[in-house]
Amino acid sequence: MSNCTMIVLAAGRGERFGGPLPKQYLPLGNRPLLWHTLSRLHHHAQIDKIIPVIAPDGEDLWQRLMQPLLTDLPKVAAPVLGGRQRQHSVFNALRTLALADDAWIGIHDGARPLVDGALLDRLLEARNRGDAIIPALTASDTVKQVDPHGQIVTTLNRDSICFVQTPQLFRFRLIREAHQQAADDHFIGTDDASLVERLSHPVWVVPGGAHNIKITHPVDQTWAAWQLQGEKSNMRIGQGVDVHRWSTGRPLFLGGVAIPHEQGLLGHSDADVLLHAIMDALLGGAGLGDIGHHFPDTDPTYRGIDSRELLKSVQETLHTHHWTVVNLDATVICQKPKLAPYMPAMRQEIARLLKIAPEQVNIKATTTEGLGFTGRNEGVAAQAVVLLTAFP
Ligand code: MG
Repeated sequence: MSNCTMIVLAAGRGERFGGPLPKQYLPLGNRPLLWHTLSRLHHHAQIDKIIPVIAPDGEDLWQRLMQPLLTDLPKVAAPVLGGRQRQHSVFNALRTLALADDAWIGIHDGARPLVDGALLDRLLEARNRGDAIIPALTASDTVKQVDPHGQIVTTLNRDSICFVQTPQLFRFRLIREAHQQAADDHFIGTDDASLVERLSHPVWVVPGGAHNIKITHPVDQTWAAWQLQGEKSNMRIGQGVDVHRWSTGRPLFLGGVAIPHEQGLLGHSDADVLLHAIMDALLGGAGLGDIGHHFPDTDPTYRGIDSRELLKSVQETLHTHHWTVVNLDATVICQKPKLAPYMPAMRQEIARLLKIAPEQVNIKATTTEGLGFTGRNEGVAAQAVVLLTAFP
């Protein structure tokens, strides 16, 4: 199946919400609400480009609050300026795109930050049913029609009612034509699918996400913050241990850093005992076995290999399984050499390889007061613990 470009609407002023900031920039956790929306879309493999649409006078806010947070979200393109109403904003974004007629475009409310991978999968998989796919929830409450004075007109059959969400997916040609026609007719709809319906073109529904709410009232912000907190508690701990013996005539590598010493460590690879303990902790936390399983020392590919290459590969494996590191703490156990001068470099290098901040990495060293095999200076041991969290 082909990929999908996603337009994200963040041009609203949030009048219903009140307050000094438009609601898409309000904090959720420690980031603006809109960042969560963009991040979740970004992490779906079949979404290849995200186009934010911001308020015509909102460039300062975007530059100040969003731009610094986008280095990890390279699929997010430069923002397009919106129009007077939501529909004008979508049309503005569609007009900037030069896509094939049969390309797929998604349109999502920036104020739905809890959109998840399962909902995106349902929408993308349903594209074989037609050219317009939208998510919706069934009605669980009784639905009544009411007149302007507050008197009930009738009770509706709730089986024929659904509550529509975004993202809504369309063939590019179809949604452009629907928006052009609505503009020509001065018709304003409350969603994009309604413009397609006016062309008498079929629109298909897939089950929406119960959590995929549109942040509209302050209580929604509180609720969404609780949901995110709950997701964060999807955490795993991992532990790793490794030992290598000293060997003369080999260079010494610890934590991905070359350390001048009269001897190095013996091993099939470069014998970086610290990186090996860290890799075992990462794989252990993710429930993915150990480095012996992933990089067998019977495989000549790994003879003399730079362990940093192995750690990069482990990082990619974890990312594929939707795990990211919260923090990492490790200890090197040896009688000598003195490692304190190399700690900052090790920390930097490990953080770089794991694509995290140095503050998330802590490296320590200890002797064993002359006791045991490390105390007798026969070799070096390392231990590591990591905390992993799932990203959606
Ligand atoms: Mg080892």
